[in-house]
Amino acid sequence: MENLRFRALADTFNRNKVIYKMPDKKPSEYFGEMTFNRSAMKEYLTNESFKKVMSAIDQGTKIDRESAAQIAASMKAWSISKGATHYTHWFHPLTGSTAEKHDSFVNPDGGGKAIENFHGNELIQQEPDASSFPHGGIRNTFEARGYTAWDPTSPAFILGNTLCIPTIFVSYTGEALDYKTPLLKSSYALDQAAKAVCKMFNGDIEKVYATLGWEQEYFLVDRSLFIARPDLVLTGRTLFGHASAKDQQLSDHYFGTIPERVKEFMKEFETEAHKVGIPVKTRHNEVAPNQFECAPVYEEVNIAVDHNQLIMYLMENAARNHYFEVLFHEKPFANINGSGKHNNWSLATDKGHNLFAPGKTPKENLRFITFLVNVLMGVNEYEDLIRASISSAGNDHRLGGHEAPPSIMSVFIGTQLTNLLDRIEASNDKSGLNEELKAGLNINVPNIPEILLDNTDRNRTSPFAFTGNKFEFRAVGSSANCAKPMIALNTILAKQLVIFKKDIDTLIKDGNDFEDAVYQVIKKYIIKSKRIRFEGNNYSEEWKVEAEKRGLFDNKTSPESLSTLVSKNIVDLFEETNVLTGRELEARRLIRLEKFTKKVQIESRVMGDMATNHIIPVSIRYQNTLIENVRGLKDILDLQTYGNVSKNELEIITKISHHISEIKRGVDKMIGQRKLANSMKDEEAKAIAYATQVRGIAMQIRTHIDKLEFLVDDELWPMPKYRELLFIR
Ligand code: ADP
Ligand code: MG
Repeated sequence: MENLRFRALADTFNRNKVIYKMPDKKPSEYFGEMTFNRSAMKEYLTNESFKKVMSAIDQGTKIDRESAAQIAASMKAWSISKGATHYTHWFHPLTGSTAEKHDSFVNPDGGGKAIENFHGNELIQQEPDASSFPHGGIRNTFEARGYTAWDPTSPAFILGNTLCIPTIFVSYTGEALDYKTPLLKSSYALDQAAKAVCKMFNGDIEKVYATLGWEQEYFLVDRSLFIARPDLVLTGRTLFGHASAKDQQLSDHYFGTIPERVKEFMKEFETEAHKVGIPVKTRHNEVAPNQFECAPVYEEVNIAVDHNQLIMYLMENAARNHYFEVLFHEKPFANINGSGKHNNWSLATDKGHNLFAPGKTPKENLRFITFLVNVLMGVNEYEDLIRASISSAGNDHRLGGHEAPPSIMSVFIGTQLTNLLDRIEASNDKSGLNEELKAGLNINVPNIPEILLDNTDRNRTSPFAFTGNKFEFRAVGSSANCAKPMIALNTILAKQLVIFKKDIDTLIKDGNDFEDAVYQVIKKYIIKSKRIRFEGNNYSEEWKVEAEKRGLFDNKTSPESLSTLVSKNIVDLFEETNVLTGRELEARRLIRLEKFTKKVQIESRVMGDMATNHIIPVSIRYQNTLIENVRGLKDILDLQTYGNVSKNELEIITKISHHISEIKRGVDKMIGQRKLANSMKDEEAKAIAYATQVRGIAMQIRTHIDKLEFLVDDELWPMPKYRELLFIR
């Protein structure tokens, strides 16, 4: 028989090696050479256009049509000099991936020849026929137009021979159909609110922006084995698979030596990343076998989000050159670690401060405490939104698993800061705060030494941990677009800072001095947000009980958490900050519910197919062999010996029958549940039915399939097993 598994294994060893040609220069010499960055602009733009772009980037001013024409001409000249023949607007529609439509620079010149053209309006705006992108009811079917518009704050880059221009994507009526639009709006809201608060401390700060440093986890699988698993190909994860006798129990993979073949792959995608200006820095093995991580130096959030989307693409490409497939799914394998994307988030100013880092002066330290406590307040008020910002069908499998943060949101700040906040809470007036900061942060003392927070105080179980000068949001899924959680955090903090400033202004109007006012407000916030702080083990059962007592949300499945997107509290938040309208939020909720439903539906169908036409036939074939054998024994043995000898085999035969009939029953039941769910009109009810009923049955079917994998002759089993998929040779 044709056994997929053995064919796949054979392919692994028969492949031809692809040799990637490393540039014969140092990374610093080719870093960013494929981006239209500041130095390329300086070289190619007129002085005036250069100033206009810089002011658009730094001050958010608009670029007029005339300059756009000049910029487009320069961009064309630059990209053609780098070998580009095509250009595309590059955007992030709500599908979760990136979209592009390539147009050639070449245009007929009317005289039978052609010239390379790229006009200002082609740079600034395009009108893709976007009717197939998800819109959640925003776009009427008769008005299918969508617009993409150039985002000058994220540099254009060249991939292959295409100039890619980062753009936003909005509907004909101006509503956001992508992630970048609300991200930029949330950055604007945060800048305004944070700047106003900063100005109370030091007058010279003109810009505040969020920074993001993502850590991307992923699995690599041998491509030939990957192809032999329809579940991996169609759903990105294994829908069944008996545990490998050895997986991560020895912790021998974590930070271990990176296999040579993998290192070659890493070198390739890192080099390609450097060429397009992604500052990738760190690579290492992760906990699970075949699991790895890469991380760059942090950047301004909009650029960091684009770079994360881009690097996932570069990794997928490079992987194929090395006969790998890269898995960004949050839980490709059951019972071993899943993959996340830690989002390290902080605030920077144009004067080089990190607002989440203690400073060198008393005022800076007071400002640090102010920003820290405002984050705590924000998370306290909007934990449900933060949870919703990371929910997806894939992440449901990971959250609350033994290695990932639970679906309950809380903040970890470490002992040093906990003690500090506790003491402020217990103090009676601002002298308490001053005493505290004197002791801990040296406020009011001239020539104070810089305080250093203990960075080793880490709690790896917390979904949202303060790590010295940034918050690390660890619950983000590995396949997610980072914009979603970043939009939530920026917007929440923007609103919270506006409230803070109002609270301070009121107290000052009532005759309090500034420090007094800050003390009073901070103390109030510390008390109010105390319930969101948790320093213990987030994976423990006790925390679940405790969190319930504290009244924290525990939305275990995506559909549950997504319903909060249209709660009054959250709609008000986004409308007040001008980031998203109620209608846009409702559209996003519908799109995400639909996506959830479709993902689970596809998984359920694939499982049904594989169970019915791979697993059951193979199990029956093996069972027949056993039956033949038992019959044969009966022919040649006396009755008593036969009775003893056949007992074991009869037991296996019965077990196989049991599993087969359970699988068959499960598949029928699952089809019934799908039909029922599909008939539901309400998207939320439908998604919940998929999350609970359909998934519930799929899990039962899986148990039986995994038992069969253990029982059935290895030679007959048609698909690569965990013990093969998880170890690269
Ligand atoms: P870990 O110990 O969590 O693996 P790493 O040091 O490997 O941490 O990664 C930390 C990540 O945090 C890096 O991507 C880094 O760029 C990022 N980071 C550091 N400082 C900041 C900051 N101020 N703002 C945003 N991200 C930051
Ligand atoms: Mg980390």
